[in-house]
Amino acid sequence: MQERQPSLIDRFDRRITYLRLSVTDRCDLRCVYCMAKDMTFLPREQLLTLEENARLGRCFSELGVHKIRITGGEPLVRRNVLWLFQRLGALPGIRDLALTTNGTLLTRHARMLKSAGVTRVNISLDSLRPERFRAITRLGDLNKALAGIDAALAASFERVKLNSVILKHRNHDEVCDLVQFAVDRGLDISFIEEMPLGVSSDHDRAEAFYSSDQIRRDLAKQFDLTPSTERTGGPSRYWRLNAAASSADGGRGRCTHVGFISPHSHNFCGDCNRVRVTADGRLLLCLGQEFSIDLRRVLRANPSDDERVKQAIRSAISSKPRGHDFELDAQPIIVRHMNATGG
Ligand code: SAM
Ligand code: SF4
Repeated sequence: MQERQPSLIDRFDRRITYLRLSVTDRCDLRCVYCMAKDMTFLPREQLLTLEENARLGRCFSELGVHKIRITGGEPLVRRNVLWLFQRLGALPGIRDLALTTNGTLLTRHARMLKSAGVTRVNISLDSLRPERFRAITRLGDLNKALAGIDAALAASFERVKLNSVILKHRNHDEVCDLVQFAVDRGLDISFIEEMPLGVSSDHDRAEAFYSSDQIRRDLAKQFDLTPSTERTGGPSRYWRLNAAASSADGGRGRCTHVGFISPHSHNFCGDCNRVRVTADGRLLLCLGQEFSIDLRRVLRANPSDDERVKQAIRSAISSKPRGHDFELDAQPIIVRHMNATGG
């Protein structure tokens, strides 16, 4: 049996156990907070191949990472991406294989993803009103996203969670409806404050900012929320919806958790357990900082030497910064868009 490598521990004593792997920067939608209307995508040869992604997954798992989330762009638009899920799902060290998706292609793929070993699926849903959904995603059809959510429920993943980015005057008045939608289906839901990644040509970010505290106050008018001890090592803080409100959960007997992802309001960096790899193979040590290490070069220069790749990862972890610097009013210091980073 292969000897297990020591864990990845950074200068601040944080153990890195979670990798978010972006497999494409492309998408079938153009959400206003994520992409510009006209995007230039990476040339194909700059993307990691699926084999390179699988190799990275293996290297990270041998370094103690036990959770991998596949993200993008929209991961399900990448051709043959199921093959990658199957490879990652078969790695002995991976306990949790998760996917973040806009849901539009889940009707086609949900069952096969479950068979490949996917445990958790996060599905983005910012509005339940078709014309608003279209305005926020610029191209999206709400019915397709809702059918994707149904397909995920039918496939019986361990957990299905909705992600909603809330913007003032665009969808802030839908937070109670979105929670009720989650409750009715026995789903969890997280509300996300917009992060200043890339230049937003669509709206003024400071003006559109709607805080987690404000959302919680809005929800408290209709729901009974209690703080939960659940922690993810990331920017989410969870609250539990008490039984009376959860009773219409489609018979699943599950209590809905409501998460708040608040990079502005609360500092979450102290217990950060994660790193990201972009679609072109840059290892990002912090979502809010530009510094990265070019793992694609290391992978391609050492096609059959995983030890060199693991060495590059270990030494990169030693430069993981203490925390991020997001500021709403300032020009974004982070010029990449979320689709390039992997949310
Ligand atoms: N396409 C998939 C999706 O939409 O779920 C996966 C990639 S997307 C970049 C991942 C998550 O990031 C989504 O939940 C999306 O709402 C969120 N996101 C994108 N841009 C963001 C921004 N500027 N601030 C906060 N969240 C953002
Ligand atoms: Fe696509 Fe997801 Fe970005 Fe929306 S948030 S444009 S669905 S990658």
